[in-house]
Amino acid sequence: MQMLKAKGFDFLSLCNKRVGDGNNTSFWLDTWRGDSALCDSFPRMFALEMEKNCMVATKMAAPVDASFRRSVRGGIELVQFNELRAILESVSLSHSLDRWICNASSDGSFRVKDIRILIDDLILPSGSGPTKWMKYVPIKINIFVWRARRDCLPTRVNLMRRGVVMESTDCPICGLVEEDAHHILLQCDLAHSVLRRICRWWDIDWQSWSSFHTWDGWFSSIKIASNNKKILEGVFYVAWWSIWVFRNRLLFDDKPPVRSMIFDDIVSLSYLWCKNRYPPAPSWVSFIFCPAASSYNHETPSSTSKGSSSGVVWLSTLMRSKWSFKHIHISKDSAVSLVLRIDKILPLVENADSDATEEAWTLNISRACGG
Ligand SMILES: [Zn+2]
Repeated sequence: MQMLKAKGFDFLSLCNKRVGDGNNTSFWLDTWRGDSALCDSFPRMFALEMEKNCMVATKMAAPVDASFRRSVRGGIELVQFNELRAILESVSLSHSLDRWICNASSDGSFRVKDIRILIDDLILPSGSGPTKWMKYVPIKINIFVWRARRDCLPTRVNLMRRGVVMESTDCPICGLVEEDAHHILLQCDLAHSVLRRICRWWDIDWQSWSSFHTWDGWFSSIKIASNNKKILEGVFYVAWWSIWVFRNRLLFDDKPPVRSMIFDDIVSLSYLWCKNRYPPAPSWVSFIFCPAASSYNHETPSSTSKGSSSGVVWLSTLMRSKWSFKHIHISKDSAVSLVLRIDKILPLVENADSDATEEAWTLNISRACGG
């Protein structure tokens, strides 16, 4: 309780005595009339009192100055004496028992919930808008994004604010600026590259975001079907979480993580979680190649859904290619085959000659596809 008081929450100040018969309420020391105890409101009277622990019932049975060590004199003493008597004239005791009331609730009852709300309002950061709960991704991802939006992640800047001694507060990924949540998840070059790829994959325009607030504005302006938009939001949640995991592994793992794997992990994790949480999800291939146009309400993706070049972009990433696939013309069907036969393609990519011509490369692809 003392720790809470130090943070500005004084629980006892919310608790008053409601006097019934007056047998269980301290006349001077409990707060039962007004906002403070009578010993604080009338210190000169309290100084004269000989029975400082007397109960209300006892005190009300005799004149208020009956237990004073001397009679009241003029000046401030007399002023306080008259004020105290005026207050006591309005008091009438009943037959019910004295009881505590808590001002945190309207009816005076004590409820843990009411106190918790007051403490939360006081201590938890606010001003980040309503909490969003994304049902397509696991609870741990939602909690992570909730903490990130409220700047509660243990970023280097936050750790320093809490008194942790560190050699540097610079971003562990780029080393260029201080690491806070907005930088690491939105502004750092890794975040730029990952989030830009997500936009290309979904065929939407990318922009640079300075904060979650600007991201919210951008996201609300996107025009895609609402169900797909929820999936996309889940993908961004997974992306932020993946970037944070990468950052932690970079700092704490013996073996540095592979940067080029982040995007692939985001795609596959997003699909896995989405599929398992709200089936029937679109097929894997549909999810990869036209996520924004996929149908998330039917078992089979719509055959009329608009294809896009994004699958090729993704394929390029998946294969960690030495080439950019966007310059290689392959049909959507071929690309699908490539994804399904990735075990055959990967050795090709790893052993490929970086000077190979487009024709040679396309030929290799078609062979791998069984064409
Ligand atoms: Zn950075």
